[in-house]
Amino acid sequence: MSHMPRIAIVGGSIGGLTAALVLRDLGCDVNVYERSTAELEARGAGIVLHPVTVRYFEERRHLDAARVSVSLPWLRFLDRDGSVVHEERTNYRFSSWNTLYRNLLACFDQNRYHLGHEMIDVEQDDRRARLRFANGATTSADLVVCADGVSSRSRAILQPHVAPRYAGYVAWRGTIPESELSPLTLRRLGDAITYHLTAEGHVLIYPIPGPSGELTPGRRTQGFVWYHNYADGGELHDLLTDRTGRRRDSSVPPGRMQDPYVSWVRRYAAATFPPAIAEVVTRTVDPFVQVVLDVAVRRMAFGRVCLIGDAAILVRPHAGAGTAKACSDAWALRDALHEAGGDPQTALAAWAPRQLAVGHALMERARWMGDGSQFRHDWTPGDPRLRFGLYQAGDSVFDTP
Ligand SMILES: Cc1cc2nc3c(=O)[nH]c(=O)nc-3n(C[C@H](O)[C@H](O)[C@H](O)COP(=O)(O)OP(=O)(O)OC[C@H]3O[C@@H](n4cnc5c(N)ncnc54)[C@H](O)[C@@H]3O)c2cc1C
Repeated sequence: MSHMPRIAIVGGSIGGLTAALVLRDLGCDVNVYERSTAELEARGAGIVLHPVTVRYFEERRHLDAARVSVSLPWLRFLDRDGSVVHEERTNYRFSSWNTLYRNLLACFDQNRYHLGHEMIDVEQDDRRARLRFANGATTSADLVVCADGVSSRSRAILQPHVAPRYAGYVAWRGTIPESELSPLTLRRLGDAITYHLTAEGHVLIYPIPGPSGELTPGRRTQGFVWYHNYADGGELHDLLTDRTGRRRDSSVPPGRMQDPYVSWVRRYAAATFPPAIAEVVTRTVDPFVQVVLDVAVRRMAFGRVCLIGDAAILVRPHAGAGTAKACSDAWALRDALHEAGGDPQTALAAWAPRQLAVGHALMERARWMGDGSQFRHDWTPGDPRLRFGLYQAGDSVFDTP
């Protein structure tokens, strides 16, 4: 094999870490630069798995997906009174952001994972790309992979005309240990991903591994996601102003929501959700908000610099495939670099159009799903087009339950 490049990865979350691992294993000299000063934690709660999300564990660590996720045999839609309006078999797997991050990080060399490195500038010439960080440090590499997420600084530098667009609604989310739920609710929710269509969207709920990766029923965590519309402008602005008065961009973390909003969510859930779902929402201590946004670049490759994951294309959550897309970008980049004999520019030129197509198709599908839930109100329980999937609806499934 030809000489493999020195690679700098900006952003050390699931997309950045997956890229770091697969490129390191290809023989590249890889360093990760993460803005956060401490190891990341408690991001985003649940993740619907796609085979590509756990491909690294399965192929390289011989760690079965079953060890990092909860398998659920059923998908159910409940009516307001708790009765089942639709039920079908599934073989989806659900994990948590924490579980995936912890396991990926454990595979990477700590000395090459640089916390407290907020990238503020990237530039390049024919031979190298250079990064500057807010702490004064600089570095250079043959290839820079930017995996710096929804508010990507690298996107702002490389595609300054691309701005996130508010989709018109937010996701209220939260988690609660199963041990804090009543036996009746646990029985109702324990073996399924459970949906309820509300007057103005939908709520879904599913078990994920407990805080230390526990998979046993009763020791897991239940996570809910409730999509609700807020008018752009004043209403959204106030929702995103946290309890200290700070205006947040795209999410307000757990524990930072203003109390009146938390009380309102609990009242709304108690009054309108099926009893089991209402119990989860009303007992969740720190519900939080993530704004649903659309962002799509027209290019992912710029010479020897590229954007992957949410930094490139942010998809709405309904297809359950944002993390999977970031991992797919990483694996495809590894293949392209291998085929190009380690030449970054040749590799990126071949890689970018394919991954752009994957991202744009997913974005359109997820947008169609979201608009159907929130604005057209045309979701039909059991519609196969509503299934989770990365390359197509329904492909986020595993061969073995
Ligand atoms: C409500 C909701 C539900 C979701 N459900 C699912 C699901 O079920 N399945 C799924 O696959 N996906 C899901 N997603 C999407 C998923 O969370 C994201 O797609 C995924 O986390 C993207 O990973 P990433 O590594 O690209 O970016 P991120 O996870 O956002 O990571 C970016 C990293 O870059 C760092 N960073 C930022 N700026 C800088 C800088 N300037 N310098 C250095 N570091 C920087 C950040 O600190 C962070 O660690 C969901 C999203 C939402 C909002």
